[in-house]
Amino acid sequence: MINDLLAKKKTSLSFEVFPPKKDDDFPAVFNTLDALAKLNPDFISCTYGAGGSKSKKTVEVASYIQNQLKIDAIAHITCVGFKQTDLKENYEAFKKEGIQYVLALRGDRPQTMTDEQYYSREFEHASDMIRYLKDNTTLEIAGACYPEKHYEADTMENDLKHLKEKVDAGTSFLISQLFFDNDTFYRFLELTSKAGITVPICAGIMPVTTAKQLGTTVTLSGSSVPKELADIIANYGENPEDMRKAGIDYAVRQIRDLKEHGVDGIHIYTMNRPKMAAEIVTQI
Ligand code: FAD
Repeated sequence: MINDLLAKKKTSLSFEVFPPKKDDDFPAVFNTLDALAKLNPDFISCTYGAGGSKSKKTVEVASYIQNQLKIDAIAHITCVGFKQTDLKENYEAFKKEGIQYVLALRGDRPQTMTDEQYYSREFEHASDMIRYLKDNTTLEIAGACYPEKHYEADTMENDLKHLKEKVDAGTSFLISQLFFDNDTFYRFLELTSKAGITVPICAGIMPVTTAKQLGTTVTLSGSSVPKELADIIANYGENPEDMRKAGIDYAVRQIRDLKEHGVDGIHIYTMNRPKMAAEIVTQI
């Protein structure tokens, strides 16, 4: 059980994957998962498309992790376009597949959503969905957190206040947004502790293996780029093989340092690339 594991002092190792874009791509994702399973992760989470259309795919992938690979699965779920009936439907699907853990997220506003739909949504924040899930299901719930602050929050102080509310609503553990500067994460841990947030927090690590990927990642996550990583891109960005090696090496050093600091867990955003994950895991 993930909760028991995180309560122990050992640093857990987990992966994130995304579901296939097309139905006939499932075998490729299952092959990826077979390869990731060989690295003995403590759990694997599967992302979710915010609009709701991809929810069945998330359930199918999480079911494979849970039932075929016998590894604890976390299904991501976003509530931005959800009504209670949608949550009930999803809960039934989770129960049927034996999925016990969800990462409960608000999600980002889909481009197709009108102002009226967005501002009248049934679950305004992730904490509203978490409260509902806690009262109406037996699911174990994880939540997201942001070492460099969520992009909508005006101050870190307010973001932490809302994070505390989210934890108090029934969140058992947190998984962080990716970050490239460990000091940012250590400062965040201090702030969460001061804010009275005591649940385990897994550190989100995204290995960057191309210059283009870094650009996209920074745009989506808002994470800051330390000089050392910027220098790697400047020095190796034009040479794919050297860039790949340097990016993996950067992630390995980040993870080793986090483990030395005794963090609760390392959650690797694998981008469905098991070879890269294997190279990292063998070095840590
Ligand atoms: P919330 O916890 O609701 O917070 C969102 C904002 O609202 C924050 O600024 C917060 O400070 C503020 N807030 C919260 N409560 C209140 C309140 N009561 N009053 C005022 N303000 C408040 N997205 C996907 O679509 N699919 C995925 O699978 C996915 N997986 C993710 C996994 C991880 C580990 C992380 C970190 C993010 C993931 N996301 C995913 C992105 C996520 O959906 C977005 O970051 C989204 O913008 C916020 O979701 P949340 O659950 O953190 O929201």
